Amino acid sequence: MDATKQEPGAAPTTPTESIPASNFIRDIILDDLRTDKCQGRVHTRFPPEPNGYLHIGHAKSIHINFGLAAEFGGKCNLRFDDTNPCKEETEYVESIIEDVRWLGGDWGDRLFYASDYFDQLYEWAVQLIRSGDAYVCDLSAEQVRQQRGTLTRPGEEGPDRNRSVEENLDLFERMRAGEFPDGSRTLRARIDMASPNVNMRDPVLYRILHAEHHRTGNKWCIYPMYDFAHGQCDSIERITHSICTLEFEDHRPLYDWFIEKLGIYHPQQIEFDRLNLTYTLLSKRKLLTLVQKGYVGGWDDPRMPTISGIRRRGYSPEAIRAFCRNMSVSKTNGTTELSALEYYVRNDLNKSVPRVMAVLRPLRVVVDNYPEGWMEELDAVNNPEDESMGTRRVPFSRVLYIEQDDFRENPPKQYYRLTVGREVRLRYGFFIKCVGVVKDERTGEIVELRCTYDPESRGGNSPDGRKVKSTIHWVSAQHAIDAEVRLYDKLFLKENPNETEEGQDFTANLNPKSLEVLTGAKLEPSLHDTVPGNRYQFERLGYFCVDRESSPGHLVFNRTVELRDTWAKIEKKL
Ligand code: ATP
Ligand code: MG
Repeated sequence: MDATKQEPGAAPTTPTESIPASNFIRDIILDDLRTDKCQGRVHTRFPPEPNGYLHIGHAKSIHINFGLAAEFGGKCNLRFDDTNPCKEETEYVESIIEDVRWLGGDWGDRLFYASDYFDQLYEWAVQLIRSGDAYVCDLSAEQVRQQRGTLTRPGEEGPDRNRSVEENLDLFERMRAGEFPDGSRTLRARIDMASPNVNMRDPVLYRILHAEHHRTGNKWCIYPMYDFAHGQCDSIERITHSICTLEFEDHRPLYDWFIEKLGIYHPQQIEFDRLNLTYTLLSKRKLLTLVQKGYVGGWDDPRMPTISGIRRRGYSPEAIRAFCRNMSVSKTNGTTELSALEYYVRNDLNKSVPRVMAVLRPLRVVVDNYPEGWMEELDAVNNPEDESMGTRRVPFSRVLYIEQDDFRENPPKQYYRLTVGREVRLRYGFFIKCVGVVKDERTGEIVELRCTYDPESRGGNSPDGRKVKSTIHWVSAQHAIDAEVRLYDKLFLKENPNETEEGQDFTANLNPKSLEVLTGAKLEPSLHDTVPGNRYQFERLGYFCVDRESSPGHLVFNRTVELRDTWAKIEKKL
């Protein structure tokens, strides 16, 4: 098994906000503080490209960057790496700001954009041309690819590599002025076409793109490559620890080369492993495909691993932070179990949200010996884990709903819930005994149970010490509120959704049953005034939250996560 896989049951003891788990990045910072390497400063940044919505993988980076800055009294900037006008949109910028804030990231007044620095980057490009370290190249993108060689074959020097500084300055100026069509020329660094590191083989610094930029409009028709922008932006912002994911390790020599040639402030780059989760894809490009092709309802579909998706699903920022705090930060990529994330979600909701009764697939129960037209209110505890959450009153009357699953006409062994002749406890209610069933004459389907109740068992307490083997939830039919409930399952069937048969793509692994909509759920009346975003435990069923599409006349709930308890396990086996 993968060394970094985390078993759900093996999650560490309850995390607290104040105890940061140590990791190698934190150790480097501690060391730098000890040796006064950065004059006591800790300054990090979170640098998303606004080409999609943030996902749970980004939460790891946010946690590391904002978390370490906060821990050491430092600063963390939010910077949009917006160097590609073709893929970037204001919608993404806005969603990213909302998501980082929701996760608790605090960038103060330091919201920056790589595009803020386009003038400076242009000047630095000119500086590199002047020092003979950059040249204008007339090869097409395809020719550049060919000429750069492979891991086993060195690159070849191109015909434009030895152009004079004057000619390069003139051509670059004219590139900027819009004289040339897209793709006809590039500005390239003059490093080493034979370098074993492909990134050092005269990488492209600027390309011609006659495209409108979401912030600079039509001011530019040449744009810096990410590699030319990223390190210099960190330098401009005087970032002390430039923390990024492992795939940038091979780019570090190039970033260092730029910094040295330009003679500017040198941030220290530190790479860590990306978060991968089982049954989940964390690639903005693939998530965009799911959205664009309509496999999901949008970026915030509750099945999506996006921050907006899991927020809508009912995950709290506290749960995500607890997950991040306990996650490994290392130099090798691994895969974390999706159930580890769910563990932290449950752990958080268990204590923080009220419990209520809801019946998802109702079966009508008539209590024969309960007076018609009568009702009474019973006390129910809002959260046994937290007394301060108090109690509420739930109405009881002659006609109730229970879960269809809580009755079996022919119960298998080990089934302890309701069946004809058996007594069970209604949670916070009474003992009831089933005395008969009413069936649809045509279909034979059970449409109603006839029961009796023991008035002496009020509150669910045994009047004479006699025991019942199970406790089930219920709602009073007359008082119940209707609701739509959306049940979610894993979006993908395979642990690694990228693993496909030949000729298929990852969409072949989508779970066709990832969404089930129940339209006839019945809720206890205390939920009458609930509003989108509210979270609950539906007793015995799981955690649910009110969806943003919910309205007072049409309540809609999302299942956040199932309860994991023995009852659920036995139920699955039956
Ligand atoms: P994607 O492949 O999903 O597009 P990206 O790395 O291109 O991801 P960016 O917008 O460039 O996305 O990411 C911003 C920051 O978040 C970067 O520092 C990146 O390294 C980090 N990041 C992205 N995905 C993950 C992940 N799965 N785990 C940890 N950090 C991540
Ligand atoms: Mg990217």
